[in-house]
Amino acid sequence: MSAAETYPIELKAPDISAYTGNTDIPYVTSFDSGRPGPHVVVNGLTHGNELCGAIALDRLLRNGVRPSAGRLSLSFANVAAYRDFDSDHPSASRFVDEDFNRLWDEATLGGTRDSTELKRARALRPLVEAADYLLDIHSMQHATGALMLAGLTDKSLALARRVGVPAIIVRDAGHSAGKRMRDYGAFADPASPKTALLVECGQHWEQRAADVAMQTAERFLAALGVLAATEAARILGEPVAPQRIVAVTEAIAITSERFEFAADYRGLEVVPRQGTVIGWDGGKEIRTPYDDCVLIMPSRRLLRGQTAVRLGRYVS
Ligand SMILES: [Zn+2]
Repeated sequence: MSAAETYPIELKAPDISAYTGNTDIPYVTSFDSGRPGPHVVVNGLTHGNELCGAIALDRLLRNGVRPSAGRLSLSFANVAAYRDFDSDHPSASRFVDEDFNRLWDEATLGGTRDSTELKRARALRPLVEAADYLLDIHSMQHATGALMLAGLTDKSLALARRVGVPAIIVRDAGHSAGKRMRDYGAFADPASPKTALLVECGQHWEQRAADVAMQTAERFLAALGVLAATEAARILGEPVAPQRIVAVTEAIAITSERFEFAADYRGLEVVPRQGTVIGWDGGKEIRTPYDDCVLIMPSRRLLRGQTAVRLGRYVS
């Protein structure tokens, strides 16, 4: 049993069979306010085993959320993987064939290769391209503080600040194994106003992850004017911790068949001394490049080509 599977399962996977949606794209529900405003998309289940996104979308839909301006779309991404979710093997349903969140570039989406996830990404692509704002809800292998992955643009940092949670904002370039949905097209273009955020709400199975997902989604909708002004003011007026920013300087991609960490890192450890060995990639030492190096999301899926950990520093 891997370390990730030792966490107790506090969450129940919601039944989403009623949410096949009202658009051309299965499992996308879209509401038009009839008033001018942005098209805001909240997405869950980019990874099929990350229950908190499905729980937040289920709550929004059951609460009857409707936009007071613009258009709101709620999407369940990797439904095929989610259908395989089994609480006895909770990590197995991350994807069916491949990681849905490494496919988001023109060459891959427009290419001839095929898979369950590519089919779904191609189906969702028109929605992602139509979105002015996207929140993609995820969870993590380890129970550490929630993170807002804001990418590299100033516009997404500014939106992360307007949302106000989680308390840690990570500025990062993603993974060498492939582009994330949040970095697709205009979202990564500083000249475009289109903006995406990816929130990592907590450990996959912990209740807190669902709470963070719901809070983040509501604050995202409030910050973007989707919710009525009085409700938005109430939501955004709730006290939150001050935010800090970690700038990721590098992602350690695994180059060998055997990667090992030097300790049982869970994430957000601050390694005080430059040059500290934090792991070995096929025997090659991986050392921290500077003092007070922050470890972001150390992985338990230590496979060649994948990201083992991201390294960064607090910049505020
Ligand atoms: Zn994820």
